[in-house]
Amino acid sequence: MSKVLPGNATGGSQRRVKLMVRLTIDNQIVDAEEGSTILDAASKIGIYIPTLCYHESLTPGGSCRLCVVEIIANGTSGLITACTCLVETGLEVRTNSERVVKSRRLAVELLLAQHPHSDRLQELTKKMGIDKPSFTLKEQECILCELCVRTCREIVGVGAINFIAQGIDRDINEPSIEVSPVKCIGCDSCAYICPTNAITVEDVGDTRILTTPDGKLEFKLKKCSTCGKYWAPEKQLDYIIKKADLASDAFDNCPNCRD
Ligand code: SF4
Repeated sequence: MSKVLPGNATGGSQRRVKLMVRLTIDNQIVDAEEGSTILDAASKIGIYIPTLCYHESLTPGGSCRLCVVEIIANGTSGLITACTCLVETGLEVRTNSERVVKSRRLAVELLLAQHPHSDRLQELTKKMGIDKPSFTLKEQECILCELCVRTCREIVGVGAINFIAQGIDRDINEPSIEVSPVKCIGCDSCAYICPTNAITVEDVGDTRILTTPDGKLEFKLKKCSTCGKYWAPEKQLDYIIKKADLASDAFDNCPNCRD
């Protein structure tokens, strides 16, 4: 957050001043920008906090709970996700207390138990000194990190994926997300961001196949009018043409054959 100061007498231009707040992280006094998160402030001074569902280009979700830290304020303490909690003056943050370590270990073990083959989770658990989970759970593809939902909505601007609420009555075998075949343009961004390969994409001949926990969607690929290669979903290219107001033949050639 920043404060806008009135313009000066000569030019009338406005000057933005960043407001800072002072807090303590692991006994270090830190001056952090108002509006930044504890995760931002900690990483700026080189303190590692594990994350899985966080991505710097997306609105934080806090669903994986791997970034929990302990905060102490007004004589009470509690655990909170560092990616969603904003810095405040006088806050005391502990990123490595016994309580924090226990909570993170449980969170990552739960995730790994449901998805033992994920490279990303294996890497995270190894960093936390865990070889394998101390319990077993039914394996699931999707770990509900919501990265795909936020990417589709915030980066692609399509909003084709939605979470299906996980109520007490829901069957665990039902998919956790639903993908709208009408809205989806087959761009592949959700597969790219998914940390557990619950969403995958494959181009076979003239067809792109997007496989999600909700099922398979197929998209016709555009053929390059010069080299004949199938290179991107027609639906995705039509979406870009409309959005950017381009000529209808803007993508007749693939990137390699364009001038
Ligand atoms: S492939 Fe479909 S669901 Fe996935 S990010 Fe692109 S538009 Fe969204």
